[in-house]
Amino acid sequence: MDKHEFFMKKALEEAYIAQSEGEIPVGAIVVCKDKIIARAHNQTERLNDVTAHAEMLAITSATASLGGKYLNDCTLYVTMEPCTMCGGALAWAQLGELVYGASDPHRGYARLTPPILHPKTKVVAGVLGEACADLLKAFFVRKRD
Ligand SMILES: [Zn+2]
Repeated sequence: MDKHEFFMKKALEEAYIAQSEGEIPVGAIVVCKDKIIARAHNQTERLNDVTAHAEMLAITSATASLGGKYLNDCTLYVTMEPCTMCGGALAWAQLGELVYGASDPHRGYARLTPPILHPKTKVVAGVLGEACADLLKAFFVRKRD
Protein backbone atom coordinates (compact mmCIF):
# COMPACT_ATOMS: atom_id res chain seq x y z
CA MET A 1 0.00 0.00 0.00
CA ASP A 2 1.07 3.55 -0.71
CA LYS A 3 2.73 5.09 2.36
CA HIS A 4 0.56 8.19 2.31
CA GLU A 5 -2.60 6.06 2.10
CA PHE A 6 -1.39 3.86 4.94
CA PHE A 7 -0.93 6.82 7.28
CA MET A 8 -4.07 8.60 6.08
CA LYS A 9 -6.01 5.51 7.18
CA LYS A 10 -4.60 6.08 10.67
CA ALA A 11 -5.78 9.69 10.54
CA LEU A 12 -9.19 8.41 9.40
CA GLU A 13 -9.31 6.14 12.47
CA GLU A 14 -8.98 9.30 14.55
CA ALA A 15 -11.76 10.95 12.54
CA TYR A 16 -14.02 7.98 13.34
CA ILE A 17 -13.26 8.43 17.04
CA ALA A 18 -14.26 12.10 16.72
CA GLN A 19 -17.48 11.04 15.01
CA SER A 20 -18.33 8.56 17.77
CA GLU A 21 -17.90 11.39 20.29
CA GLY A 22 -20.25 13.72 18.43
CA GLU A 23 -17.41 15.88 17.12
CA ILE A 24 -16.93 17.00 13.53
CA PRO A 25 -15.07 13.97 12.14
CA VAL A 26 -11.56 15.23 11.46
CA GLY A 27 -8.49 13.29 12.51
CA ALA A 28 -4.76 13.98 12.34
CA ILE A 29 -1.55 12.14 13.02
CA VAL A 30 2.09 13.22 12.97
CA VAL A 31 4.71 10.89 11.55
CA CYS A 32 8.44 11.26 12.19
CA LYS A 33 10.90 8.85 10.54
CA ASP A 34 8.03 6.49 9.64
CA LYS A 35 6.81 6.40 13.24
CA ILE A 36 3.53 7.85 14.49
CA ILE A 37 4.43 10.29 17.27
CA ALA A 38 1.04 11.94 17.74
CA ARG A 39 -2.63 11.14 17.14
CA ALA A 40 -5.45 13.60 17.58
CA HIS A 41 -9.01 14.32 16.56
CA ASN A 42 -11.26 17.33 16.70
CA GLN A 43 -12.39 18.04 20.29
CA THR A 44 -14.07 21.43 20.08
CA GLU A 45 -17.24 20.12 21.77
CA ARG A 46 -15.57 18.15 24.54
CA LEU A 47 -13.08 20.88 25.42
CA ASN A 48 -15.53 23.68 24.71
CA ASP A 49 -12.72 25.28 22.74
CA VAL A 50 -13.07 26.48 19.16
CA THR A 51 -9.33 26.12 18.67
CA ALA A 52 -9.27 22.40 19.56
CA HIS A 53 -8.95 21.29 15.95
CA ALA A 54 -7.22 17.96 15.27
CA GLU A 55 -4.16 19.68 13.81
CA MET A 56 -3.67 22.00 16.80
CA LEU A 57 -3.88 19.10 19.24
CA ALA A 58 -1.56 17.00 17.04
CA ILE A 59 1.06 19.76 16.93
CA THR A 60 1.07 20.10 20.72
CA SER A 61 1.24 16.34 21.20
CA ALA A 62 4.02 15.91 18.59
CA THR A 63 6.24 18.65 20.01
CA ALA A 64 5.76 17.21 23.51
CA SER A 65 6.85 13.84 22.17
CA LEU A 66 9.87 15.28 20.35
CA GLY A 67 10.89 17.69 23.09
CA GLY A 68 11.30 20.51 20.58
CA LYS A 69 8.92 23.02 19.10
CA TYR A 70 9.62 22.52 15.40
CA LEU A 71 8.30 19.78 13.17
CA ASN A 72 10.74 20.11 10.23
CA ASP A 73 11.32 16.36 10.09
CA CYS A 74 7.66 15.45 10.40
CA THR A 75 4.69 14.79 8.17
CA LEU A 76 1.24 15.76 9.41
CA TYR A 77 -1.64 13.75 7.96
CA VAL A 78 -5.08 15.25 8.35
CA THR A 79 -8.36 14.09 6.85
CA MET A 80 -9.50 17.58 5.87
CA GLU A 81 -7.60 20.53 4.45
CA PRO A 82 -6.44 22.63 7.42
CA CYS A 83 -8.29 25.87 8.10
CA THR A 84 -6.46 29.19 8.09
CA MET A 85 -5.86 29.01 11.86
CA CYS A 86 -4.27 25.57 11.61
CA GLY A 87 -2.36 26.55 8.47
CA GLY A 88 -0.83 29.42 10.44
CA ALA A 89 0.03 27.11 13.34
CA LEU A 90 1.65 24.63 10.94
CA ALA A 91 3.73 27.49 9.54
CA TRP A 92 4.93 28.41 13.05
CA ALA A 93 5.79 24.74 13.61
CA GLN A 94 7.83 24.76 10.38
CA LEU A 95 6.17 21.52 9.36
CA GLY A 96 8.19 19.42 6.90
CA GLU A 97 5.28 17.94 4.97
CA LEU A 98 1.51 18.25 5.01
CA VAL A 99 -0.71 15.51 3.58
CA TYR A 100 -4.46 16.04 3.58
CA GLY A 101 -7.55 14.26 2.33
CA ALA A 102 -10.67 16.28 1.60
CA SER A 103 -10.49 19.85 0.34
CA ASP A 104 -12.27 22.65 2.18
CA PRO A 105 -13.11 25.37 -0.32
CA HIS A 106 -14.79 27.51 2.34
CA ARG A 107 -12.36 27.62 5.24
CA GLY A 108 -9.25 25.92 3.90
CA TYR A 109 -5.86 27.59 4.05
CA ALA A 110 -4.97 26.79 0.43
CA ARG A 111 -6.97 29.60 -1.15
CA LEU A 112 -5.06 32.29 0.75
CA THR A 113 -2.60 34.50 -1.07
CA PRO A 114 0.18 34.94 -0.24
CA PRO A 115 0.49 31.30 0.85
CA ILE A 116 0.23 30.85 4.60
CA LEU A 117 2.34 27.70 5.09
CA HIS A 118 6.07 27.76 5.75
CA PRO A 119 7.84 28.01 2.36
CA LYS A 120 9.66 24.72 2.98
CA THR A 121 6.52 22.70 3.77
CA LYS A 122 5.78 20.14 1.05
CA VAL A 123 2.08 19.52 0.39
CA VAL A 124 0.26 16.47 -0.91
CA ALA A 125 -3.50 16.94 -1.33
CA GLY A 126 -6.35 14.53 -1.97
CA VAL A 127 -4.99 11.34 -0.35
CA LEU A 128 -8.07 9.15 0.26
CA GLY A 129 -9.92 12.39 -0.37
CA GLU A 130 -13.22 10.74 -1.14
CA ALA A 131 -13.31 8.61 2.01
CA CYS A 132 -12.40 11.66 4.11
CA ALA A 133 -15.05 13.84 2.44
CA ASP A 134 -17.76 11.16 2.67
CA LEU A 135 -17.29 10.95 6.42
CA LEU A 136 -17.76 14.71 6.76
CA LYS A 137 -20.76 14.82 4.41
CA ALA A 138 -22.50 12.00 6.30
CA PHE A 139 -21.92 13.84 9.56
CA PHE A 140 -23.50 17.07 8.35
CA VAL A 141 -26.44 15.25 6.75
CA ARG A 142 -27.15 13.54 10.09
CA LYS A 143 -26.82 16.86 11.87
CA ARG A 144 -29.43 18.46 9.61
CA ASP A 145 -31.96 15.66 10.15
ZN1 LIG B 1 -8.27 24.15 11.87
